[in-house]
Order: sequence, then structure tokens, then C-alpha cells
Amino acid sequence: MITDRWLTPPGPRLTLNRGQQIVAAVLVLLLISLVAIGFQSSADQNAYSQHSARSEAASTNTFFTVRDSLTYIDRAQQYLLGAVPRRDVQLARAMLAQRLRVIAANGVTAADSTGPDYRTALTALDAVIAQAPPGLLPANQRTRWADAILPRSEALSERAHELAADNQAEQHRLNRLAERNLLRGRVVQLAMLISALILAGILLWWVAANVVRQYRTARRAFDEERQALRQTESRLDRISALERGQAQILERIATAGPVSSVLRQIVQLAAEVSGAPAVRMSIGRRTVIYPPGADVSGTPAWTGVVTDNADGAGTLAVSGDAESLDELAVTALVRCRDLVTLSLERDASARRLSYQASHDALTGLANRSLLLTRLSKSLVLSRRRGTPLALLFCDLDRFKMVNDSIGHAGGDQLLIEAARRLSGTVRESDTVARLGGDEFVVLCPELPDRSHAIALAERIRAALSAPYTIDGKEAFVDACIGITFADESTVSGHELMREADVAMYRAKLTDGDHINVFDSLLEAEVAQRLDLDAALRHAVERDELRVSAQPIVMLNTGVITGFEMLLQWHRPGQPVLYPGSFIPLAEDNGLIVEIGRWVLYETVQTLARWRADGLALDLTMSVNVSPRQVREAGFADEVLDLLDAAGLPPEALIIELTEHALVDLRVAHPTLARLREAGVSVSLDDFGTGYSSLTQLRTLPVDQIKLDRSFAAALDQGDAKQRAVVQSVVALASALSLDLVVEGIETLAERDTLLDLGADKGQGFLYHQPVLWDAARATLESGGVCAVPADGGYTGLASSDAPSPSASTNLRSHRPSPSVST
Ligand code: C2E
Ligand code: MG
Ligand code: MG
Repeated sequence: MITDRWLTPPGPRLTLNRGQQIVAAVLVLLLISLVAIGFQSSADQNAYSQHSARSEAASTNTFFTVRDSLTYIDRAQQYLLGAVPRRDVQLARAMLAQRLRVIAANGVTAADSTGPDYRTALTALDAVIAQAPPGLLPANQRTRWADAILPRSEALSERAHELAADNQAEQHRLNRLAERNLLRGRVVQLAMLISALILAGILLWWVAANVVRQYRTARRAFDEERQALRQTESRLDRISALERGQAQILERIATAGPVSSVLRQIVQLAAEVSGAPAVRMSIGRRTVIYPPGADVSGTPAWTGVVTDNADGAGTLAVSGDAESLDELAVTALVRCRDLVTLSLERDASARRLSYQASHDALTGLANRSLLLTRLSKSLVLSRRRGTPLALLFCDLDRFKMVNDSIGHAGGDQLLIEAARRLSGTVRESDTVARLGGDEFVVLCPELPDRSHAIALAERIRAALSAPYTIDGKEAFVDACIGITFADESTVSGHELMREADVAMYRAKLTDGDHINVFDSLLEAEVAQRLDLDAALRHAVERDELRVSAQPIVMLNTGVITGFEMLLQWHRPGQPVLYPGSFIPLAEDNGLIVEIGRWVLYETVQTLARWRADGLALDLTMSVNVSPRQVREAGFADEVLDLLDAAGLPPEALIIELTEHALVDLRVAHPTLARLREAGVSVSLDDFGTGYSSLTQLRTLPVDQIKLDRSFAAALDQGDAKQRAVVQSVVALASALSLDLVVEGIETLAERDTLLDLGADKGQGFLYHQPVLWDAARATLESGGVCAVPADGGYTGLASSDAPSPSASTNLRSHRPSPSVST
């Protein structure tokens, strides 16, 4: 902003041109001459006064000279007549002499004043007196002397009077002359003065007129200049308003001000700086008009294209007269157009960032932060409305294995597909979030009741566990789902999340129970499991793990053909733990690799010892192996080296892998192929609980099938369908030349049915519990035959290190009902 002080120019300045300068000089000269005339006149006056004074002095002298002359003559006569003493004559002569000296002292000589006749007469008189004898003259002489002086004194007196008369006449003449001169001088002075005044007036008028004309010209120039300055000032004001507005808007854009208000500000700035009557910005569904409600229907005076990645292109249009838009207005509009585009871009990127901050990058589902935000809002609503709120925590089972086997890119595809299935299973109002890895959470803010939540969890599980086709290959995962419900006591979303997590964890630990609803008792159990996890890490180094062996026998004779190695955890002062309660933990935390290596070592060393002692010479040792072990680089070499070092043939070892594990490992895993080539057998454990169809069996790289114990149990219950299935499996195994072992035979009835169906090998409590090495060795030493109890079944523990039925039920996994597709 330019202040008036700077904008107001100085007024016009008076300058004289050459003509005016000459006139001014003449005027000055005129004034000087007037002054000179004045001085001259007063000098004349003085001269006249002095002359008058001198004339007067001369008259006075003449008068006194005459008087004193007469006095002297008189005294001289009286002296000569004896009337007065000589002294009186002398006194009168002294007076006259004095008078003549005074005249001389005043610059007028006695001669000038008196003339030669006077002086002759006086000299003659002086001579007479001087010759007169001193003292009073005698009377006879008086007359002679009187006659001697008389003509002289008369001449003197006469001359004195003439002098006086002449003097006076001259005086008058001079006076008249002086007066005339003075008068003439005055008249000339006055005439000159008047003409000087007239001339001065004319000149003054001329100068003044000139000055006024000049002033007017200068004033006009000044006004024009001021006008130009005002225009510059207004232009500068507009520029500064534009700069200021632009800076404010840029700041608001930078600080992520609400886009609608920023756009309003830009449109207002465009209207104000361009001076247009109305400005409209429209893009997509967004329209901003300034002034609000203005009519913008006419042909625009100026239009600029604005762009937005989301909405495409729009316009910034200015109504009014195109002529009225000056260069600055157009510049302002171009800048405003760019600001609109910038603001829209920033808004889009802010939205993108906010989306990225609240969503999972891989699946596009909500992330933890967004889930927690919605959860706390839903909690408030749920409390207010009294509607139940459920949170489902889903974790994909065996995803890590799938991920390892199909690669991370494949794992990502599986997660994306799982997210899609999850979203397709729930309602619009539900929130599906991914917390990372294979953990998903579903927030259901409006569920009529608990049974609906459980039904939903089942649907979710069904959707998630259906086969996935990744890069043309099939992959299988399952899901464990923990459910929790908010109630009045629910404090926070975090608490609810923890509860659902605990329930899920519990579902994961309980093999076969994939869905679990949170309860507070369960929480304590999970905490215990977590303790267990920590303790397991020290179990190996503290030598708390034991390998138990369960004989595998010929069903009809009970003759032992081999042993299955089953792990046990003997914790000091606590009951023995069986694999179902800690193997999943070891799988999760990765300890299974180390533990599995140790089991293999123990097994090979024990068998070597037994064989060295002439025992178990043709028996096999079946070791359960985790797919993680198989995936360890060098596993095959390790196993073969171990056997070699112990001097055992590879045929003495069978490794058991579950159906799931085999599928996860991919059928043609090189490690398995290498082991089989070397002579190690691969057994398909828990057959019937996985997804393989009977027809797929022939493609699996296995030498043996272990039919899951649930089949044996079902036979005991006289299930005709299961019977048929078992029969098919027996037939298939025989057709494919696969060894078949039936697990979990507990009763004679089961054994008999199995024998009827053609099965010949099996294991189970009917024959023998899993026992520690010494007990197993004892069994071998006593003949290597497992006697079947005469009363027809398993009744309890045969040895202290065997699990009780109840322990088996509680601590071992509950397997799902058999499902073999054909
Ligand atoms: P599995 O390989 O199917 O082992 C057979 C399971 O059935 C054993 O349970 C055994 O005690 C149990 N069993 C045997 N006969 C009967 C019976 O007549 N009735 C019943 N109800 N159960 C019977 P255990 O010892 O609890 O092992 C559970 C699972 O843990 C094993 O299933 C195996 O998959 C896994 N496992 C055991 N030891 C190891 C190991 O060293 N490494 C690995 N990776 N897994 C192991
Ligand atoms: Mg097994
Ligand atoms: Mg099994």
C-alpha cells in the first residue's frame, strides 16, 4: 500500500523565462532609479538649504558689518569731537575687526563681504584715527580732524548701506532661483514616479499573467501525473491483494485446510482481483460461485481449465465483459486457476494418504487404526441403542506354510483373495480389517444375537477354507475365529480386540474347534498357554522332553512291526504333557525344527542300540515330522547322514506327514523325493481329516497311509457309511500298493471290523499305549507281541507314563469328523 505522502507529488514550481527575467531586471532598475531620484532630490533640497543658510549668514554679516562700521564711525567722530575717550574708538574698531574675522572664519572673506570701496574707506578712517594725537583733542584740532574723517566716514557709511542693499537683492534673486529649481525637480520626480509605477503595474500584470498560465500548465501536468500515480497505486493494491490472497491460500493448502473452503477462497480472490462481477468454478459435482447466488449463465468473459485426478477436468469461468479484464486481471485468473488445480491435487493426495493411513495396502481392507476408530464409535452407539456388538478375530491356519511353499507373491494373492471372500461374506455395515500377516478382524455393529455371530463365523470359515487357486496351483488354508461380544462392562475397543484375540488363540490351540467364543475363564487358560510357550523354549535345554513309542502291530496277531515316536513333555512337579498341547506351540514359534531334529536323533540312536543288542532287527521307526522341518535346507542329507552314522538302513525309518503338510509342501517336494529314493518311507498321517480325495491319493508321494483314529471310533459305533469308506480306503491302498495302518484302535470290536474289512495293520490303546524307551524295549524283549486284553478293549492306563483317557480327551486335539471326498 502506498501512502498519500509518497503518492502526492510536489505542487508546480514557479520559474521565470528569459522575457520575464528581462522584465524583472527592468523593474529592478526602475526601482533603483526611483530610489536614486529620491536621493538626488533630497540632495538638492540639502544644497538649497545650505545655500539659503549661507545667504542668510551673508546678509546677517553684512548687516552687522554695516552696524559695526557705523558704530566705529560714530565713535571716531565723537572722539575727534572729544565726546568720548579714545578707548571707546578703539573698542568699536576692535568690535568691527572681530566682526570681519568672524566673516572670514565662516568662509566669506572681508573683501568678498565688503568690497574694495569699503576697504579703502575703512583703511583711510583707520589712518586718520591712528594719526590723531592721543587723549582728547584740543578743541581747535577737533574740527580738522573731524573734517579729515568725515568724508571718509560718509563714504564708508554709504558703502556699508549699499552693501546691505545689494546683499538683500541678491538674496532674493537667489531664493527665487532656488525655489524654481526645486519645483522643477519635483515635477520631474513625480512624472518619473508615475510612469515608473505605470510601467511596474504593466510589468507586474504581465508577469502575473505569465505565472498564472505557467501555474495552470504545471497544475494540469501535476493532475495528470497524480491520476497516473493513482492508477499505479490501485494496480499495486490489486497486485498486493493477489499476492496476499495467494500466500494465504497456499498456506491453507499446505496445512490441509478443508478443500471446499479453500476453493471458495480462491474463487473469491479471482472475483476480487479481476474485478469481474461473478466467478464460477465447477468440476465434477463441485461448484463454487462468488458472489454466492450470482447469475453466471451468460457467455463467460474468461475461462480456464482446472484438473483433478479424480473428477477429470472442470472450468474456472468469469462472467462480465471481456474488455474490462486488464492484463493484471488475466494474470490473477490464471494464478487462481492454478491454485484450484493445486488445491484439488493436494486434496486428492491428502485423501490418498488418509486412505493409506487407514487401510491395509495389500488388501485394501481397514487397518488396525481405522478398525479401532470404528470400534470405539460402534461401542458408543451399541451402548446407547442397546444393540449387541460382535468382534470376530480370524487367523488363517497354516498360512505360513503356504506362504513358504508358494512364495510370498503367491501368499499375497491368497491374502487378497481371503480378504475378498471375507468382505463378500459380511454385511455392508460391518468392517473387515486386516491387522497384518494372516490376521483379520470383522466388526459387526448390528447383530441380532450371539447365534447369528456364530453362524457368521461359520460362514466366514467356510469361505476362507475353500481351496485357493494361486498360479494354477491349489492351496489350502483354514481359519480359526475368536468371537467376543461387547456388553455394559466393555471398557474399550482395545479390550474387545484382546478378548477376540484370546478366543481365536484358544480356537487355534484346540485342534478341530475352529470357532471359539470368548469367556473370561478361557482368558486364564490362554495366559497359561502363553506361559507354556515360554516354558517350552527352555524344555529342550532342560532335558524335559521324552520320546515315547507306540507299537504298530499286525491286527490279527499283535506282532509288533514297528513303533511310532510320540513326544512327551515331562515338567518337574507337573503332569506329563502330550503333543497336542504343545506341538502347535512349537510349530508356531519355530521350535519344532530343533525338537524334531532331537526326536529323530533319539529315535535313530535308540534303534541302533536295540539292533546292536539284537532287538528290532526288522522293525521300522515312524517319526512324526513337521513340514517346517522338511523345508529346512539339508533336511534329507541330515536324516540320511544320521542313519548312515548309526549304521541303519534308510528302510528302517518312516517319516509321517499329515495330509495338510504334504499338500503344503507340494506333492513333488525334492526333499521327500530324495528321502524316498534313498529308501526312507513317507507315511500319510491322519488320513481322512484333510482335503485329499481318494482319487488324489495315487498322486501323493507316499508309501503308507495312516487312517485317522476317528474312523476306528466310528466303526465301533456301527456307522455303516464309515464302514464303507474304510473298506474303500483298504481297497485303494491295496490297489496302489500302499501300506495301510489304522490308528486309534481301542476295542476288540473295532479290530474285528477292521480285520473283516481287510485292514491288517494298526496301532491303538487296545494293543499298547505309547511308552518310554525302556518300556518299549521291555515289550520287545518279552517277544515283541502286544497281547489283546481278553475283555475286549482298552480300559485304562497300562503304565504310569501313558496318558489317561481323560487326559487324552482333554489335552489331545479333538479331530474333526472324518471327511474323505471321493
Ligand atoms: P499322530 O501322529 O496321529 O499320533 C497318534 C496319536 O494318537 C498319539 O497322540 C497317540 O497317543 C494317540 N493314540 C494312539 N492310540 C490311541 C487310541 O487308541 N486312542 C486314542 N484316543 N488315541 C490314541 P499324541 O501322542 O497325543 O500325539 C498327537 C499328535 O502329535 C500326533 O498324532 C502327531 O501328529 C503329533 N506328534 C507327536 N509327536 C510328535 C513329534 O515328535 N513331532 C511332530 N512333528 N509331531 C508329533
Ligand atoms: Mg503320527
Ligand atoms: Mg495320526
